Amino acid sequence: MNKALFIDRDGVLNQDKGYTHKISDLKLLDGVLEGLQRFQSLDYKIIIITNQSGIARGLFKIKDFHDFMTKMIQIFNNNKITINDYFFCPHHIDGVVKEYSISCDCRKPEAGMIFQAQEKYGFDLSKSVLIGDKESDILAGIKANIPLNIRITKNILLKDSLASYTTKDLIQAAEIIKKII
Ligand SMILES: [Mg+2]
Ligand SMILES: [Zn+2]
Repeated sequence: MNKALFIDRDGVLNQDKGYTHKISDLKLLDGVLEGLQRFQSLDYKIIIITNQSGIARGLFKIKDFHDFMTKMIQIFNNNKITINDYFFCPHHIDGVVKEYSISCDCRKPEAGMIFQAQEKYGFDLSKSVLIGDKESDILAGIKANIPLNIRITKNILLKDSLASYTTKDLIQAAEIIKKII
């Protein structure tokens, strides 16, 4: 019964302003609190996995990222939601900060962050779910052999996605999962 919800951050949990890192820009999207509560009540451990190439690009620092996460997690905790852990990729091949400007195996669409979490917690990936707003999220889930990959999009007629389902928000995603598990 050790299953995870691997969930992207920007554009799924909070408004994506592009390289979002300022706490003043932290705005949760509609349905996020209720959606996460529903996944939690379905016994999913919640793991955030997020590409943060703004770090490699020199736009903000690792500390800014963690400060943003601390604030976000505090809001979730205030709403009885436990974030079990978060994993991030600070890399980008075209970055300017030397130590992070590499080709890595954690930047989605690679599945490295999912495997890091799996190694740390022993999740059963075959029972896990992934949610993201970009096709690169979905591809990471598929590479990790996660069977249920849900793409959140305003464009519900989205074609050419490899996602198992497309939904408009997290509540709808939780409803679908509840019906099929
Ligand atoms: Mg995103
Ligand atoms: Zn990386």
